[in-house]
Amino acid sequence: MKYFDLAATTPPHEEVIRTVAEVMAQHYGNPSSLHRLGEDSGKLLSKAREVCAQALQVDSGEIMFTSGATESNNMAIRGAMTAYRQRGNHIVTTMVEHPSVYETCRYLEQQGCKVTYVPVQAGGSVCAEDVLAAVREDTVLVSVMHVNNETGAVQPIEDIGRVLKNRHPRVLFHVDGVQGFGKLPLSIKDSRIDLYSLSAHKFRGPKGIGLLYVREGVILAPLITGGGQEGGFRSGTENLPYIVGMAKAVRMAAERQPALAEHLSRLAHELYEGLQSLPGLQINSSLAGAPHIIHFSSPGMKAETMLHMLEEEGFFVSTQSACSSKRSEPSRVLLAMGRDRDSALSGIRISLGEEHTEEDVRQLLGAIKRTIGRLQRLKGGNS
Ligand code: PMP
Repeated sequence: MKYFDLAATTPPHEEVIRTVAEVMAQHYGNPSSLHRLGEDSGKLLSKAREVCAQALQVDSGEIMFTSGATESNNMAIRGAMTAYRQRGNHIVTTMVEHPSVYETCRYLEQQGCKVTYVPVQAGGSVCAEDVLAAVREDTVLVSVMHVNNETGAVQPIEDIGRVLKNRHPRVLFHVDGVQGFGKLPLSIKDSRIDLYSLSAHKFRGPKGIGLLYVREGVILAPLITGGGQEGGFRSGTENLPYIVGMAKAVRMAAERQPALAEHLSRLAHELYEGLQSLPGLQINSSLAGAPHIIHFSSPGMKAETMLHMLEEEGFFVSTQSACSSKRSEPSRVLLAMGRDRDSALSGIRISLGEEHTEEDVRQLLGAIKRTIGRLQRLKGGNS
């Protein structure tokens, strides 16, 4: 079986697995304990924080460990809206955010917040000026993802951040960096980002661990109160094995980013060329997007049927994104891009990784071609 669903999650690096096991076995002390075992764990925790900070080119005091990007996104948005209530209650975000941002904004709307969901262009990207034009007197936070998890569309983060901070220096800028990190370069500092979310399992770290970059000076109301760990931002005994495992994965992903992007772009090129030659497909992503996500619709064919037929052929792919694939509703992201319901119900996402070769891509294309042929014959037989 070939796994082409790396945007859903990645198999962890062997080294990460070894590190997690080692820390679990040997460094079980609680970092808050005063004895030597605790102190050793505390040192390891600080080291992991430094490694993450270095990879992101920020200060170690600006890294908060969380249980993953869902928590990081919640912490950034809810935490900022509570802490800066006196500034206003308006959020600017986009129509294509991951549910951990989108549903959080919807929830906050029920609690009295005002939210502007900026529309995207046909390619799935927002226009930076549209985001900036939505900022008002009472705007507290702008939240825009770097790379879309369904289509790979890239948002103009640097343009938004720079102009936002020139025009409205007090408005906070949050970026969900989950699908961009390790694939595309992005400078947190140059893009004037205040809050940046990551999930380790998207770049070969463990699941259930992530981080939130919180720029020095930014205050968030905690979501989880208790013993005051993570500078009081996020209480609870730290998951040291996963934190150290994530630090290893963060470092490797940052170091390998340029080479990986080059490899992925080569494969994506080949995949696009092959898909474009197949009749009846609507390609919803492009080479201008992130190099690891390729998305197409096959109107008239159920995405789930296609996914299972490709699985029979030996390939794991995804419908929409893993988080929404169990609901057979049309993709909110594709609808926002102006696609019709039929296209939004028949989306297939292929996501690439360093393990894939050009031969793998050719085999996948062959399987897609055969599957479409079978589905078209079935459709023809039914009509
Ligand atoms: N944001 C984006 C863009 C994602 O792709 C995901 C994972 N699907 C998340 C946030 C949430 O990450 P996690 O499920 O690890 O909390």
